[in-house]
Amino acid sequence: MKYVDEFRDPERAAALQQRIKHLAAQIFARRGRPLQLMEFCGGHTHTIFRYGIEQLLPDSIELVHGPGCPVCVLPRGRVDDCVALAQRPEVIFTTFGDAMRVPGSRQSLLEAKAAGADVRMVYSPLDALALARKHPSREVIFFALGFETTMPSTALTVLRAAGENIGNFSLFCNHITTVPTIKAILDSADMKIDGFLAPGHVSMVVGETPFHFVCDHYHKPLVITGFEPLDILQSLWMLLRQIHGGYCSVENQYSRVVASGGNDAGLNAIHQVFELREYFEWRGLGSIDHSGVRIREQYAAFDAERKFSLVNLQIADPKSCQCGEVLKGVIRPWQCKVFGEQCNPQKPLGALMVSSEGACAAYYNFGDQQALIRLREENGVSV
Ligand code: SF4
Repeated sequence: MKYVDEFRDPERAAALQQRIKHLAAQIFARRGRPLQLMEFCGGHTHTIFRYGIEQLLPDSIELVHGPGCPVCVLPRGRVDDCVALAQRPEVIFTTFGDAMRVPGSRQSLLEAKAAGADVRMVYSPLDALALARKHPSREVIFFALGFETTMPSTALTVLRAAGENIGNFSLFCNHITTVPTIKAILDSADMKIDGFLAPGHVSMVVGETPFHFVCDHYHKPLVITGFEPLDILQSLWMLLRQIHGGYCSVENQYSRVVASGGNDAGLNAIHQVFELREYFEWRGLGSIDHSGVRIREQYAAFDAERKFSLVNLQIADPKSCQCGEVLKGVIRPWQCKVFGEQCNPQKPLGALMVSSEGACAAYYNFGDQQALIRLREENGVSV
């Protein structure tokens, strides 16, 4: 297939739906309980809701929407640190747009900007570097955020800044890693995931090999998955095929983009600039070992955490917020007590309502609102 419409073809989707139903029925008859399949990546969550893929699946398949939206898992203490940096008079604080509205304990970056902080939206870390060149008397900080997908561009920007000897540019590094997080999910007592749709864009950088432990040690199937509706349906069918056949392996459905060995240039840049942190805090999931990176000592001059003193407090989410339970698949987004009422995309209480890739925002924007109200009433969630 070549054109995007072909990846959204209704006839092919219907054929895959039938194959999924057929296998799911046989698996359910054998196991007697629904399968829980996790799409790790927020991009997949977005596609699933946008195209109504959940409604195409039988009840014997439950999709668990994983923590793969970096904006959604950013803890409040890190947002507070961003705001503190942005409020310094000498600083131009640059960020991707979707991080602007993530609530901290007092303010979001957008609210800080409205109150006078110099917060600017950029499309690339190179835009931030260009601002540093243009304003040599200011300190330009780039809010580095994302999984391995965005790490290469940040790393290459640091290398370029070092090459040009630009002294007024630094990163507030919040890059996080996929593999240790999948391991933490598999080790978690309250999660029973039967298989994974692995993130296609992360895999484009890291390749297939880092995911082999999921099959080798945990005996769970994993399919590297693209982002169009047929990609998701085909990958679900591939997961079912493994479960039905009683085997597990890493399969690459997204081979039109993901090379088995990943992207050498991207990986080299990452390893040159970053090293693993011992642990990193995730909103709703707590601290996960080796789940984040920091800038290596060699490039310390470009590390905003070393350059400026930061409070770096751990701040709990509001009591009514149930983001952690949604991220673990313990409850569905609509089962959160504040879903759609105190928490909505216009005024998000939790981070899962901020980004279009957050599970709650996806349910809110693309879910059948009447059906959601009915479900909430039937399940005793006050409306
Ligand atoms: S509705 Fe809001 S508070 Fe509740 S889980 Fe979703 S984002 Fe978090």
